[in-house]
Amino acid sequence: MKIAFFSTKPYDRIWFEPMSKEYGFEIRFYEMPFQEDTVTLAKGYDAVCIFVNDHVSADMIQQLYEMKVKALLLRSAGFNHVDVKAAEDKILILRVPSYSPEAVAEFAMGLILTVNRYTHKAYNRTREFNMSLNGLMGVDLYRKTAGIVGTGKIGQAMVRICSGFGMRVIAYDPYPDPKVDAEYVSLEELMSGADLISLHCPLTSETRYIVNRQTIENMKDGVYLVNTSRGGLIDTDALIDGLVAGKFGGVGLDVYEEEEGIFYEDKSGEIMRDENLARLMTFPNVLITSHMGFFTKEAMQAIAAVTLENAYAVENGLPLVNKVGAEAVK
Ligand code: NAD
Repeated sequence: MKIAFFSTKPYDRIWFEPMSKEYGFEIRFYEMPFQEDTVTLAKGYDAVCIFVNDHVSADMIQQLYEMKVKALLLRSAGFNHVDVKAAEDKILILRVPSYSPEAVAEFAMGLILTVNRYTHKAYNRTREFNMSLNGLMGVDLYRKTAGIVGTGKIGQAMVRICSGFGMRVIAYDPYPDPKVDAEYVSLEELMSGADLISLHCPLTSETRYIVNRQTIENMKDGVYLVNTSRGGLIDTDALIDGLVAGKFGGVGLDVYEEEEGIFYEDKSGEIMRDENLARLMTFPNVLITSHMGFFTKEAMQAIAAVTLENAYAVENGLPLVNKVGAEAVK
C-alpha cells in the first residue's frame, strides 16, 4: 500500500517509519497541510493520512475519489474536520478512536494547576531570583466542584483525576454512563454550579459554542475553565468579554477555534493577525498551549500502531473496526 502523510513533523516519523517498514507500506511524508491546493499530491497513493487541522471538504473527497484513493486515515480520534457524509460510498475514513485518554486528561489537569497556581510565572521569577509571591495566590481544588462536560474516555479519566484531588465531581453527558463515579446533572446545573469546568465532548453542530455568552454569565464568579477538546466548543468573543469582566479565576486552552494554520507552526517571527488569539495572550490568567494534550510517547506510539493497523485492514479486506461512517454525523 502507498500512503501519503500530510501535516507531518519530525516526531511523527519516529514510530511511523519503522512500523510502516514492518507492514511493507510505501510511505511519503509531506510537511505541508492537506488542503485544496495540495490535494493533487495524493495522486498515485492508495491512502492519505491526515491530522486534526487538515480540513477535508466534499470537493476534496471527490478529487480523491477520482484519483482512486481508497482510504483517508485520520491520526486522531476527532473527525469533525472531515466531510464524512460526502465520503459515503466514495472513500473509507478510519480514525484512532482511543490512544491515551489519560494523556489528555492529565494535560487538562496540568493546565488547571498551572493557571491556578501560576507555576509558569513562578518559574520565570525564580530564574531571575525574584522570590516574591505577590500575584501568585491560587485556590485549593480540594472540596471544590469539578464539572466534566462529556464523560467518554477522556472525560472519565478526568473524573478519576478530579476525584483523586478530593473534588466533588458533577458531569453532563446526553448518554450518561452508570459506571462513571460522578453525579450527572443538567448542562445548566453544571455550568452554574462548578468551580472548575473541563470540556471533553466532541465538536458537533449541537456542541458548537456550548460555552457561550449566556452560559458564561451563569457561571460562578472566579470559575476555572479548561478546554482540551475542540476550539469550536467556546465562543471566543464571549470568552474574551467574560475575561474582561473578571468572570474567570483562570482559563486553560489547548485548542482554539481558529487554530488551523497557526497551531503546530512557529509563528514567532511573524505579526500575529488573529486578533482574538493575540488578545487572549494578554490576560494574566489565561494559558494557551498548541493542541498538545495527546503528545506523550505512549499516545504517539499508539496513534502510529492503530493508523497502520487501519491501513492494513483496508489493504487486506479485514473488518474495519475504526471506520467512521455517515451515521456518526447524523
Ligand atoms: P469519546 O467519544 O470517548 O467521548 C465523548 C463523550 O462526549 C461521549 O460520552 C458523548 O456521549 C459525549 N457527548 C456527545 N455529545 C455531547 C454533548 N452535547 N454534551 C456533552 N457530552 C456530549 O471521546 P474522547 O476520546 O473522550 O475525546 C473527547 C474529545 O477530546 C474528542 O472529541 C476530541 O475533540 C478531543 N481530543 C483532544 C485531544 C488533544 O490533544 N487536546 C486529543 C484527543 C481528543
